[in-house]
Amino acid sequence: MTAPYGSGSATPLIRLDHVSRWYTRGVDEVHALEDCSLDVESGQFAAFMGPSGSGKSTLLNLVSGIDRPSGGEVWVAGQCLNELDEDELAAWRARHVGLIFQFFNLVPVLSARENVALPLLLTGLPRAERRERAETALRVVGLEHRVDHSPRTLSGGEQQRVAIARALVSDPDLIVADEPTGDLDAKNAEATLALLRQLKQEFGKTVVMVTHDPRALRFVDQVFHLDKGILLEGEEARRAHDALLMAAGGSPAPAAAKGA
Ligand code: ADP
Ligand code: MG
Repeated sequence: MTAPYGSGSATPLIRLDHVSRWYTRGVDEVHALEDCSLDVESGQFAAFMGPSGSGKSTLLNLVSGIDRPSGGEVWVAGQCLNELDEDELAAWRARHVGLIFQFFNLVPVLSARENVALPLLLTGLPRAERRERAETALRVVGLEHRVDHSPRTLSGGEQQRVAIARALVSDPDLIVADEPTGDLDAKNAEATLALLRQLKQEFGKTVVMVTHDPRALRFVDQVFHLDKGILLEGEEARRAHDALLMAAGGSPAPAAAKGA
């Protein structure tokens, strides 16, 4: 298999090799993702951007082993996900992936600590250890003073931080976030993006995020642009990137468009 993208030096944490995902809807076939090849190096903060319906969530679900491709191969941390059966895939996900969603998906009747400890229930760790790890994760996101709070007593920004702590608690290689700032005000959106960047910088996590928030450009290392299920390259990618820069207020961004 040859690398379609990337520097070729380091081993990528994520490699998509000619990946497609088609859905049948009635008599129609929806090409949610079409022949997508890309690499994300370990320790990078990458964003997938594009209009609604462009295949961003589809791509993220393939990377996190929630969904399977119709064609092509998905490799993460040296594992070809195509080769795993359902049980193996679930076990792989629990070990390697931390998930963050737009609407936080916290359990309302549980405290912040209990929410964060949930992924550890499957590990067989003793209760005291699970509590301790949950508290450590909540400290990392700056919520050590909120461990006993239930989600409804927390602000949106705090709830998203609890969700980030939950994604971190099993110490995964990969943090995957689908529109993590979509339900937050400007201030909390920036704080969430800064926190995701901190996970990469302080803990060496690889973070991949779907967003259409132009603010994200200031926080990420690389941007992949999608449109109608196609990963944009060259001039098209550059134009999509420039449009986002304009939307972000024309401020210079550290991230370059991949393939441009
Ligand atoms: P985005 O996250 O960029 O908004 P999605 O990846 O959710 O886009 O969807 C891409 C395309 O695939 C859309 O046209 C969507 O309607 C379609 N799609 C997504 N999931 C399904 C599904 N389970 N069944 C049928 N079509 C789907
Ligand atoms: Mg989506």
